[in-house]
Amino acid sequence: MFCPDCRAEYRTGFDRCSDCDVPLVASLPTNEVETDLVQVLETTDSGFLPMACSVLEAAGIPHIVRGDEALKLFPLGMAARGVTSRVLGARVLVPREHAEEARSLLETPAEPPPEGQSEPC
Ligand SMILES: [Zn+2]
Repeated sequence: MFCPDCRAEYRTGFDRCSDCDVPLVASLPTNEVETDLVQVLETTDSGFLPMACSVLEAAGIPHIVRGDEALKLFPLGMAARGVTSRVLGARVLVPREHAEEARSLLETPAEPPPEGQSEPC
């Protein structure tokens, strides 16, 4: 048995993590973050990215942004790495079960985020 929070392993007979006070699970998913993520958007437009995140947030879809640091640091980050030919883009990844919903949300013109002040992720 494993704690899904701290990943501590427990012997059979335990059903809660003594540290986290959460129910134990029979097995931990391996690479849970990586395996179940699907890329739904790739953009080099740093202005579009926060909007896309807002759309996903409004829909309650958890998402991860990769590579947005590159957008902010451009062109410094590229120069430092000696990369000149690759187009840097930020990628938005969502859990597989949300991929279709996320794609359709991002394809249609988005309405402004409810708050208008949402922070970019
Ligand atoms: Zn724990």
